[in-house]
Amino acid sequence: MSYIQVAINSPLHKTFLYKVTDNKCPLAKQELTLVGFRVLVNFHHRNVIAIVVNESNELPRELESQNIKIKEVISFLDKTAIFSGDIIKLLLWIATYYHQPIGEVFYTALPILLRKDTQTPVPLISYWTKTAKDKVSSKDKLSEKALKALEFLEGRTLSTQEFKELGILSTTLKSLANKGYIAPLKDYDSSNNNWLVQDFIGKELPPNEAQKQAIDYITKEAQSGFKVFLINGVTGSGKTEIYLQLIAKTLAQGKQVMVLIPEINLTPQTITRFYERFKVPIVCIHSSLRDDEKLSSFIKLRDNKAAILIGTRSALFANFNNLGLIVVDEEHDQSYRQTQGVIYHARDCAVMRAHINNIPIILGSATPSFESLANVLKGKYHQLILPVRAGNAANVTSYVVDMRKTHKDDIFSQKLLTEIQNTLAKGEQVLLFLNRRGYAPAQICHDCGYVFKCQDCDANLCYHKETKTLICHHCERQYPLPKTCPNCHGHNIVPEGVGTENVIEQLAMLFPEAHLARIDRDSTARKGELEKFIEDINNNKYQILVGTQMLAKGHHFPLVTLVGILNIDSYLYSNDYRAPEKLAQLITQVSGRAGRAELQGKTILQTHNIDHPLLKLLLKHDYNYFAQANLTQRKMNFLPPFSYQALIRADAYKRETVQNFLNNIYNILEKIQQKISYFSFTLPYTSTVERRQKRFHMILLVESSERKILHQVLEILEKEIPNIKVGTSDFHQVIDVDPIEIF
Ligand code: ADP
Ligand code: ZN
Repeated sequence: MSYIQVAINSPLHKTFLYKVTDNKCPLAKQELTLVGFRVLVNFHHRNVIAIVVNESNELPRELESQNIKIKEVISFLDKTAIFSGDIIKLLLWIATYYHQPIGEVFYTALPILLRKDTQTPVPLISYWTKTAKDKVSSKDKLSEKALKALEFLEGRTLSTQEFKELGILSTTLKSLANKGYIAPLKDYDSSNNNWLVQDFIGKELPPNEAQKQAIDYITKEAQSGFKVFLINGVTGSGKTEIYLQLIAKTLAQGKQVMVLIPEINLTPQTITRFYERFKVPIVCIHSSLRDDEKLSSFIKLRDNKAAILIGTRSALFANFNNLGLIVVDEEHDQSYRQTQGVIYHARDCAVMRAHINNIPIILGSATPSFESLANVLKGKYHQLILPVRAGNAANVTSYVVDMRKTHKDDIFSQKLLTEIQNTLAKGEQVLLFLNRRGYAPAQICHDCGYVFKCQDCDANLCYHKETKTLICHHCERQYPLPKTCPNCHGHNIVPEGVGTENVIEQLAMLFPEAHLARIDRDSTARKGELEKFIEDINNNKYQILVGTQMLAKGHHFPLVTLVGILNIDSYLYSNDYRAPEKLAQLITQVSGRAGRAELQGKTILQTHNIDHPLLKLLLKHDYNYFAQANLTQRKMNFLPPFSYQALIRADAYKRETVQNFLNNIYNILEKIQQKISYFSFTLPYTSTVERRQKRFHMILLVESSERKILHQVLEILEKEIPNIKVGTSDFHQVIDVDPIEIF
């Protein structure tokens, strides 16, 4: 008989006690642990899935004296643990550090197919494998893609989906199968033997001096176990090459590697580079995979049948047999922050995971987050700087254009138009960045000034010409185009402002010969569309690319030599203390897309605020100088990362519900302050967009110069919150630790 504490998907911040009689125990030997197993238990008259987080042979002492009836576990669902000890530690840390309900944290980490009360299903994905036909016959006339496919299959099996991510379509695979080069395999066990360290590394580039220093330093320092390295290197400086060479060393020791990237769809080239370099099984975990594919990756890593995991933030929760290194690429990227459901920051959790596993972790970026830079200043992270581009890539020249000198309605300055013309004449590509999709961010009545708004949100409706609708960018609700103004009944309704659709329309008139690609959330909504764009861009099918944030991330467009940043002025007016950081990252990242290959790149930034001190500072110096100056300011103002913040966020259909709840929180905080000093808090305030999807959102900010004190306060709140009567079931609240947005 033993007792177990289990995590159950519920909003309560605690685990629950059950007992296990010996005949139910799945373990053959007594010395093995039940921690990490999935069990079925009865909870509030329902049978639910739970995960064992702790076990003991005795009843907890505080319960011994009481006469409580402890329920028995109904059954164990699997023959092995679903989470290994390191993940259990990580999940418990997340629950404690982010003040999230334990059960919800565990549930979030569980692959979707394991949230059902059945045994772990054996994923039956069909894999391709090479046949005995080893010599490629010239008679078969294999295409370049087909030869590439055969190369990818060396040392591993791949599914059709995995091939697709590498740019190889099922028609190519079918033709290879017909010619007898490859064959499908269904059986999970026989198709995937443990990976071997044999001739698995492709050709490495001879590292340049800065790369060599970084590689040598990390190799030496990593021997002692946990350590955080920040590779701060300009775009194209060879960060990825450093990761690859360090990963090779880790694999050679028989250890597995986890690589986190912000968004998988955006970086097919990165994935391809991994497959080309290493002939070992590689798996991916990201949101566009099917549930069985995700589970298959999860199981392969646990069983040591995959050597490398490349994934987005949720990949963080994968089990490994023998994890030896973690890499977090583009560590500054906000996609690492999970904002729905359980709130956590995957980069910071990855650092914690490395700490738990006592292994090195590498964070890399051309524009490191201010948090990471502050950790370098505090001596917690070790920074390696790569100041110049690797290989033959040319550096970028930047220009700023004062838009006050252009006509009010002009989207493009004369300078930009001339440069576009010149670039096209040379047969090179242009990338224009604008952070606004749709045709216009607002639709107004020209007669009376009425602005069309979403009925469910406090937001202007955006005009989408392509779909002939008005769309709310907060809730995506669509409205038919209005013919009359509801206010003055006039018919003079016009778009106001500029979005990507409008930019494309104007370019089509100005450059009728050029092929234009619009790349934003609307034009890439369907699966495969973005990949197609990227492929076509690289094949020079487009001359001008117009896009949002999506284009600022990680792509290599070798033919792009001119980057135009159309409008970033909103960042200059923002009252968010993080706006300068975001602005600098955006400008630096977008500029980094220019001139990646041997071609000389140019960036043109258009602004109405040419004298703005932030802009001047950034343009005169580089990102790092800007960051240091800004960090000094944050330090002087006691702002993060030199102080620690948490938000209590609440939302409901009625404003009073939210207001009452946060007033209660305020009162509790006042009481806490009588006992604990050195922290401060605000009155409840409304979110920037107060009403979203009919719900009212309000916030209360708690802050301290000491993290420990902030946590003490939150711990008390966590216990008090369930006692606050809100009187409605539509209420929702969450604690947001280390928020990246406080409005
Ligand atoms: P980052 O990850 O910093 O953007 P990459 O590793 O992708 O940089 O390198 C940018 C380009 O430079 C790539 O085309 C890569 O092949 C090339 N490169 C990187 N390191 C070297 C090197 N040591 N010698 C020659 N070319 C290199
Ligand atoms: Zn809306």
